[in-house]
Parts: sequence; C-alpha cells; structure tokens
Amino acid sequence: PADLYGASRRNSRGFNMANDADLHALAAQISAADRTWTATPLVPGFTAGSPDRGVTNPADRRQRVGAWQAADAALVQRALDTAVKAQPAWDRGGVEPRAQALLKAADLLEERRPELIALCVREAGKSLAAAIAEVREAVDFLRYYAQQARGQFGTPLTLPGPTGESNQLHLHGRGVFVCISPWNFPLAIYVGQVAAALVAGNAVIAKPAEQTTLVAHLATTLLHHAGVPAEVLQFLPGDGGTVGAALTSDARVAGVAFTGSTETAWAINRALAARNAPIAALVAETGGQNAMIADSSSLPEQVVKDALVSAFDSAGQRCSAARVLLVQDDIADKVMTMLAGAMAELVVGDPANLSTDVGPVIDEDARRTLQAHIERMHREARLIHAVTLPESVSHGCFVAPHAFEIPALSVLEREVFGPVLHVLRYRSRDLDAVIDQVNATGYGLTLGVHSRIDDTVEHIVSRVRAGNCYVNRNQVGAVVGVQPFGGEGLSGTGPKAGGPHYLARFASERTVTINT
Ligand code: GLU
Repeated sequence: PADLYGASRRNSRGFNMANDADLHALAAQISAADRTWTATPLVPGFTAGSPDRGVTNPADRRQRVGAWQAADAALVQRALDTAVKAQPAWDRGGVEPRAQALLKAADLLEERRPELIALCVREAGKSLAAAIAEVREAVDFLRYYAQQARGQFGTPLTLPGPTGESNQLHLHGRGVFVCISPWNFPLAIYVGQVAAALVAGNAVIAKPAEQTTLVAHLATTLLHHAGVPAEVLQFLPGDGGTVGAALTSDARVAGVAFTGSTETAWAINRALAARNAPIAALVAETGGQNAMIADSSSLPEQVVKDALVSAFDSAGQRCSAARVLLVQDDIADKVMTMLAGAMAELVVGDPANLSTDVGPVIDEDARRTLQAHIERMHREARLIHAVTLPESVSHGCFVAPHAFEIPALSVLEREVFGPVLHVLRYRSRDLDAVIDQVNATGYGLTLGVHSRIDDTVEHIVSRVRAGNCYVNRNQVGAVVGVQPFGGEGLSGTGPKAGGPHYLARFASERTVTINT
C-alpha cells in the first residue's frame, strides 16, 4: 500500500510540510544560509585534492554555493577495478541487507531534510515547494525500491515442472551499473537510479550532472552512512565527455541508467554497442514534446490552471512539462485570454521565497538557448503573453515565462526545456490530424487531456503515444508507486521509474532446474 513508502503523505501539489510556519522557518534558514558545500570523488583509496570548480546560485550568480573536484580518466579505471571486485559479495549477501540500507538511507535523508532542501534551492534553483517535493520523492524511491526488492529478489519464483524436477527463477545483480543523472531532479532521480541499481545487487558508479554535484555528493555520503559499502557505491563527478564517455566505453560495465537528453542517450547507446563486450542493459529516460489537448467540453478555468502548472512549474524544466496546449477552436480565444490573465499573476523571482512561482533556469547556456527560441517564436508565432521580469532577478539566469500561439506543431524543431508554452488551435474534425502531428514528433512522454466526454478521452488516450496520460488535471509530478513514470519512442526505453517492473531491468534472471 502507498502509505508504506510515504507517497500518501503528499498532497496533490507534493507538499508535505506540516504547516506554513514550518515552511517560513525553512525559507528563512535557506535565505540566511551563508554556508558552502564541497564535493570530491568518492573512490576508496583516492585522496581528494582541492575542489576547483565553483558552484554559484542560479538565482544570483554573485552567491557562491560551493566547489567540487572532477574525476579524471585514471580515477575512472580505479573505480571500475574496485566495483568489479566488490560486486559479487554485495550480490550474494542477499536482498535483505541491501533493502535495510535503502530504508536506513531514507531515514537519514529525512533527518537531513532542511540541508537537502537548501541545496536543491541554492545549487539547482528549485523553488522551495519543488525542493520539498524533491526530497520527499527521493525518500519515496528508497522505500519503494526496498519494498519491491524484498518481494522480487527475496525468494525465487517457483515454477511448474514434472514430478521429480524443481524449477526456480532467481534474480541477481548484473554486475557494475553506471548511473548518469540529470540536474533537473538532482536528488530524486539521482537517488532513484542509484537505489534501484544497488538493491538489485549491482555495484554502482554514479556520475551526476556537472551542474548539481553538491547535492548528489551529500546523498551519496548518506547512502554510505546507511550501510552501503564505499566499494559498492562510488561517486565520480565530472564532465560527460571524459568521465561519462570513459565509463560507457568500458567493457566491464554491465548496464547504464541514464536520464537526460535523447541525443545523449543515443551517444551512450552507440558507445555501449561499440564495445567488444557482453551487451549492456540501458535504461534511458529522455525528453518529450508533451501535449495537453483540451476539447470544447472542458472547463477553460481548469484548463488554464492545469496548463499553467504543467508548463511553468520548475520553470518548465521537467521532461514531463506541457510544451503544447492544443485547444479546440470554440474555446480557444477564451482559453488564451484567460491564460494571459493568469500568466500576468505569476511571481518570478527568488526560489527561496515562498511566494515565488517561477525560479531561475539552471545556467547561462540554458538561458541563452531559451532566449534564442523565444526570439524565433516572436517572428514565427503570435505572442499571447510574456511575463515581465522584475529588476530583482538581474543577477540570475532567469527566463520570462512566455506563451505563443503557433501555426503548426512542426515549428517546434526540438524539445524546449524551459518556461515557454505553445498553443495551437484545432477544429473538431481535425482532431485525428492533430493526434498524428503529436505522434509525428517521435516522442512519447506525457499527455494531458481535458474533456468531459468519456469517448473523446478514450479516443485520445488510446491514439496518442505517451507513457503517462493525465486526464482533467495537470501532467507533472508523478508520484512514486502511484504514477510509474517514463516514456515511449524517443522519450525512453522503459521500464518506468517508481513502477513495479523497474528493478527487473537492473537484474539478470537465472533459471535453476534440479532433478530431485
Ligand atoms: N517525474 C517528473 C514528473 O513527473 C519528471 C522527471 C523529469 O523531468 O525527468 O514531473
């Protein structure tokens, strides 16, 4: 049941703090924080040098958050040697100590919640509400995978057979798993990947996104304190081009869990395939070009409220975010007018401030890419609304939320990973053509549907390729164990994170037949 791992303690927006007073106290702690953090590779026998890569707050680049040291190619080799040696004992030790370590880590994360939340806000620019939900999700992953592993790895599956023959199916670790995680969920996805790979009996080498090494480092130390041996979980921060490439081209790697862009997933897939080695497992969760479809029976107020959250929460930096709102023409003008009105109310600013709706984007590169897209949309589409950025954000990487009415979905060449919503109107008789356009993007991550006609909902949900379909609500914030998350097509390989089939992909199966 959901409450075993805590999902039911979240309300629909992901808040789980007891009351506003707690939140205000936390907000004060975060904005007052002048402490900094450091991160170095965690590889047994490695002596850390001095961290030389500075981290600054995306909301205010004048504010230093900490510094980290990158791993080099020699350290990658040492980590792989260590992992290969340590994995068999971890695997043969059985699922129970592994599940216990995850449960203990969940408790430690909860104890260190204020610090983890502060790091998510200051290193990743997460809004306070999003940071709270992020810690909750990380804890949920730990408890959920511990529980799943006990069920799936604890006792082998007994299979039928003739008299005098016993048949059993055992699950065990594949070997060394590499986990490459993104900056947009720097704690939850990092912990989710690592926990799944560990509990399935693998040794893990974790490489977090360059932008968010500090919070991943803290999470790794908590997993070590919880009982995961240092040889079994190693931490190798660094650049994708050096550390990531050295790991994915090594014949000793049995599997990779990756969340990030589709382009990087292709590169990893090619690197793994080019090795003269056993074929590796790749669990990839990638991008989306997600649509929300609203027909004329839907309630414009509800559509606008849900589109706003789906498009602009986390400054649109969720792979699940709505990028295109497809509205049936009878209600399109009304929806666009209301959308402009609602956007005018959005508060853009310091993510540590409780009243902030939209914080910064992750870095200057992201800001520039998004700005270039917005400029192109000004030429090729009609502006519905642009939020005016306040003076106070001039030292951060902020992008003003924008909404544009576009002439066709094809003007969006690639995923736009930020606070830009595109609106496309359609005529009732063109619904199937619209569905074809959505499918033609090749992605298949999330889908939002707003309609009060059951047949229409069924028609759309059964035809649009999407891993997660949300009807008459927003389309972000999948809850572990409740909405298993992940896409199809260009959006990922499956299986779904936070779902009952995830762990099996991290394991090898062994059938044992005994003539008794
Ligand atoms: N699981 C997140 C959600 O449902 C998105 C994960 C991602 O952006 O990678 O919003």
